[in-house]
Amino acid sequence: MKNIKITEIHIYQHDLDIKGKPYKTSLSEVNSLDTTIVKIVTDSGISGFGEVCPLGPVYQEAHALGARAALAEMAPHLIGMNPLQYGKVLAKCEQALMGHNYAKAAIDIALWDIIGKQFNLPLCELLGGAKRDKVPSYYAISIDSPEEVARLLVEKQKQGYQKLQIKVGGRDLAEDIAVVRKAFEVKEPAIEIVLDANRALTTAEAIRLSQSCRDLDFILEQPCDSYEELTKIKANICHPLYLDECATDITVVSRSISEGVADGFGMKVTRVGGVSAMRCVIDVCHAHQKPLSCDDSWGGDIIAAVCTHLGSIVEPRLSRGVWIAAPYISQPYDSENTVQINDGWIDVPSAPGLGVSPDTHLFNHTQSFS
Ligand SMILES: [Mg+2]
Repeated sequence: MKNIKITEIHIYQHDLDIKGKPYKTSLSEVNSLDTTIVKIVTDSGISGFGEVCPLGPVYQEAHALGARAALAEMAPHLIGMNPLQYGKVLAKCEQALMGHNYAKAAIDIALWDIIGKQFNLPLCELLGGAKRDKVPSYYAISIDSPEEVARLLVEKQKQGYQKLQIKVGGRDLAEDIAVVRKAFEVKEPAIEIVLDANRALTTAEAIRLSQSCRDLDFILEQPCDSYEELTKIKANICHPLYLDECATDITVVSRSISEGVADGFGMKVTRVGGVSAMRCVIDVCHAHQKPLSCDDSWGGDIIAAVCTHLGSIVEPRLSRGVWIAAPYISQPYDSENTVQINDGWIDVPSAPGLGVSPDTHLFNHTQSFS
């Protein structure tokens, strides 16, 4: 094993402004997201980048200030360690701080970026190889009126998306049902639809929504808040059930499959702890033939690159796509290697590591460790 050392860790803050209308889910409405970028510098001249960007403070148990505080707690312990021995570095993070997987994910991502650059391989090749050179993306349509949702759905179909997500919840159920009915009037047959309530429905509402739309073919994603609620509705709904916010780690993923609750997953890379944990989730989903998406709650080019690499190693027939925030964001981190959606698909970055080189001048430097 080549002996290189972590010499510096820099933490940055950056506001990802949303262009156009705010991004609206059942939980919140946001105009800008507070993201955290980590740069790990080594004595070999190679640096790696990681990122974590919670979707505001109420989407899940994660928030931007918490991410930066957790990183500052862990960073001093990692100076002098060999980043190629990523398992040892992650174990050191566990010794330094309990929980906070979303913050640990930013370190994990930066380690994989360094490993890829050190061995001159893109991340997907380190993970066993991309199964295709581009991955399907999906677009999430915010909470809105039936007419506006239908208009956007037609627009996105025309742009080439094969998978679309419609946000529901947080309002009168009749409005959600009207949205779904209107959307299916204009939906092309090949388009896969996911209804995502982001935990907002009661068990009774979830069952009513599914049963009143039993003639329509869609996937129901995280309709209720807790895993227990999802177990209770499972036998009474007519649609496949995907876990998102509840899928916090590999043990929940395994349990929900073995208990027959989850038919698939909307996975979030930083929620489970980064690339290392996510590869484990992908292996479990492959073993059990469960579809999954490779997403994150939000993030810039670094997160988009990570999700795309991970999405490329998923068996195509089990891939539910890769969501990235690029369509909503005005300024990329790396103008030459922006991770973009073209005709509903994202090219897998081909440069070593993540394949993006952020311009740190765009960010606000908050702390450094050496
Ligand atoms: Mg979701």
